[in-house]
This record gives sequence, C-alpha cells and structure tokens, in this order.
Amino acid sequence: MNPEAGTEGGARPLEAGQRVLLIDRKNRRHLVRLVEGGKFHTHAGIIDHDAIIGEEEGFLADARAASEPDRRGVPYLVVRPTLADLVIEMPRGAQVIYPKDLGAILMSADVFPGARVVEAGVGSGALAMVLLRAGVDLTSYELRADFAATARRNVVAALGAEAEQRWRIQEGDIYEGIGGEGYDRIVLDLPEPWRVVEHAEKALHSGGILLAYLPTINQTAELRARLDESRFGLAETAEVLRRTWHVEGRSVRPDHRMVAHTGFVTTARLLRGPRLSPSR
Ligand code: SAH
Repeated sequence: MNPEAGTEGGARPLEAGQRVLLIDRKNRRHLVRLVEGGKFHTHAGIIDHDAIIGEEEGFLADARAASEPDRRGVPYLVVRPTLADLVIEMPRGAQVIYPKDLGAILMSADVFPGARVVEAGVGSGALAMVLLRAGVDLTSYELRADFAATARRNVVAALGAEAEQRWRIQEGDIYEGIGGEGYDRIVLDLPEPWRVVEHAEKALHSGGILLAYLPTINQTAELRARLDESRFGLAETAEVLRRTWHVEGRSVRPDHRMVAHTGFVTTARLLRGPRLSPSR
C-alpha cells in the first residue's frame, strides 16, 4: 500500500489509493481515500476524485451541484494528512496517545534511528507509527489479537508495507517477561507498568531508558515507588500542557477550551550500580 503519512520528501502528485484531507471554510476535516472515478459528496455538491488525482496538494477543489456544473462551487482545501492528522482520524480499538504527548515521548525516551525498542501495548498503533517513522526497530507486545490486527492495518496504511520489515507484533502478556536483551528503549502504555520493571532490568542494556505513559498520578506514584527499589535511576515525571490560540485580526488570545489532561510521562535509566543519592 502507498504510504499516506510523510515518509519521503519532495513534491509528489496525489495518487489513487492515498488518503487526503478535505478541509472546509469552517475547518471541518474529512479524510477521504482517492479512487479513480470516485466522488466525495458534500452538502454543497460533489467533488470528483479525478479532479484531485495527479495534482500536487495545497489547492482548492470545488464542490459543485450536479444540476449546476457551471456555477462556482464551494471550496475545499486539499492536503495530505500529517501523521498527527492520521492519529486523530484513524480507526481505534483502544484509546490512542495524543500528538502532543507522542512528540514529548520521542524526546523523553531519546528515540533515534536504528534504536532497538520494545513497546507495550500496541493498542491502535499510534505510538508504534510514530516510533517506526522515527526509524526504530520495534517489537510491540499486545494482549489482544483484535487490537494487534487494527494496529497493523493502521500502521501499514500510514507508513506503507516497508514499515513491517522493522516491526514485530508479539501477541502476549509483557507482565510475564520480555524476550531478548540489549534493547535501547522500552516504552509502556498499559495499566500496571511497575510489573514490567523487573523484566526491563534484564532486557535493557545499562544506560537504556524505560518510559511509561499513565493517565493517573496514583499509577505514576506506584511506578516511581517501584523504580526506587530497582536498578533504575534519574527518574523523571512530567505532563505536557498544550494551549492553542485564537488568532484573528485584533483578537489574539488563548482559545477558550483546551484539553486539560491526558497523561503523565515517566522516564528512568538503567544503571549498573547504586544511584547517586542527592545531597542537600
Ligand atoms: N499506545 C497505544 C494505546 C495503548 S492502549 C496507541 O498509541 O495506540 C493499551 C493497550 O495495552 C491495550 O491494547 C491493551 O490490550 C494492552 N495491554 C494491556 N496490558 C497488557 C499486557 N500486560 N501486555 C501486553 N499488552 C497489554
């Protein structure tokens, strides 16, 4: 399948089989897969897919009523979806991690191309997509076969079949152990990450990073307590607050609404010996 998120640079014409975002003047977004001869129906009329296929993104397509093909239509902006757009719009089984946190996770876990990374659970595949596009070699643990299947479809649609060469889904319970060792990073999005700490001590090389994403501070405190009794040090917990702004003429101010809470990101590094105890 052709990749839909950006996986290569340069101007490329839109092809049949790819998805595009059609955005109207009220900023309503529709993710549409282009099909030769296909039609996108709007309240204002129809956009022919053939008027989009072969074009470069970033132009206005007109939705025209079939009965009045010569009248000027209603404009829709045509662009390729970004990876963040796909994460928001893609089919989900489990709750996905939001783009603001996905960005922070890449930096907090110090992810780099070629890194050997273990992830659990794969859920709908949002985090897997972001890690794979950052160039890692990924093993994803997942308890549920149905989620694993959804994640595989989402990742292949976004990044193309090539991504599968650097990705294995391991169906099973990561609380029971991690196969292999010498991993660079372990990234966890599941309810009881403290049950993975002991396995992570064996699976990571020293200096490796464990990251856990958790919705509540109770879970985070439990993880931190467990990390304190482990070979991990340099533990840190943070949350990301993202406030968008309304910018229109002389009215420039924060938006009235924001997503006030998603999750806490905790990281720690595997050490060889005792950790530094802070001096006061
Ligand atoms: N990070 C994912 C969402 C993960 S949701 C995304 O961005 O799309 C949590 C997932 O963890 C669920 O799919 C659940 O089935 C899985 N899970 C929970 N406990 C697990 C365990 N012990 N081992 C493996 N997977 C587990």
